[in-house]
Amino acid sequence: MGVRVGIPRALLYYDYFLLWSTFLENMGVEVVVSQKTNKKIVNNGIKSAVDDTCLPVKVFLGHVLDLNAKKVDYIFLPRYISVEPRRFMCPKLMGLPDMVKQLLPGIPPTLVVDIDARKNGGDLPVEIFRLGRLFTFNPWKIRLAYKTAIAKQKEFKKRIIQGLTPEQIFLEKNVIQRKNTILEDINRPESNDLKIGLLGHGYNLFDNYINMNIQGKLKEMDVQVLTSKMFKEAEMNSGLKRLQKDIFWTFGRETIGSAFYLLQNKIVHGVILLVSFACGPDSIIMDIVERAYKREGVPCLTLILDEHSGEGGVITRLEAFIEMLKWREQGDESYLSSHGESLDCPESPI
Ligand code: SF4
Repeated sequence: MGVRVGIPRALLYYDYFLLWSTFLENMGVEVVVSQKTNKKIVNNGIKSAVDDTCLPVKVFLGHVLDLNAKKVDYIFLPRYISVEPRRFMCPKLMGLPDMVKQLLPGIPPTLVVDIDARKNGGDLPVEIFRLGRLFTFNPWKIRLAYKTAIAKQKEFKKRIIQGLTPEQIFLEKNVIQRKNTILEDINRPESNDLKIGLLGHGYNLFDNYINMNIQGKLKEMDVQVLTSKMFKEAEMNSGLKRLQKDIFWTFGRETIGSAFYLLQNKIVHGVILLVSFACGPDSIIMDIVERAYKREGVPCLTLILDEHSGEGGVITRLEAFIEMLKWREQGDESYLSSHGESLDCPESPI
């Protein structure tokens, strides 16, 4: 039996799983993924974490413990420092391998690779070569595995902007090949559907336990959803031009770029921000997006996710928000503000 390497189904799993699983499988490794997030995983993560950690990191710890129970040989823990020039990941992601080792001392050995766009350029980054050498001495095998993994990752990005979810792509389930991106499909002039932007980190958008299946609920309400992962680079960059100063965080760039692109092109009727409680970057990003939407009179709902968020409360807020959007549309009552003040109806007493 080959070496078994566990990949936690949390945090950047939703962005980079295909890259790492392809690379490791081409190294002859058996990749084991933790089960989908559930109550036990969340509770185990909460028990192990320090109090002021954000929910996604607590969930990540629970997934590592799940892999520990699956008796894997190694746990794969990339240290994401920077994945693009001049921008960085959040400090919790940078320190994640150390945090895991400190908080969960009994787990199997970890495989840590540093992902740092400032250092790891070139055909075959040193850190990838170092990882590959644990499994083979053949440099050509490592190079080929890396090239294959990069090609898969590019394909993943293409399919995400076509509107598929990461899990559909990873499992090759319901993989429809579209000609257009989901944005082009939703943005047809003849479409009268209610459209909203759902913006946030991949792990909040696609982990249905953390987000209480928000995408499924919106689908049931016949709402067309565009997530912040479904935009091309050029679209995000065009949105970012509104900012006077470049944004420092990669995820902030995605959220703000997509939020502003939707706003300036009047694509959606409103946006929902999915934000993690105790997330430093989110607290700033949320404020920037909320202010811009308020200024232009476009509804914006912020849902803060933590382990105490009750499903009932989230559904009620979601339903009220969607009802308000329909009301504004159908009744031509766009003066009805979602921000607590009248926008264009001077005689309104509000
Ligand atoms: S970006 Fe926010 S939610 Fe994500 S790991 Fe960092 S603190 Fe947590």
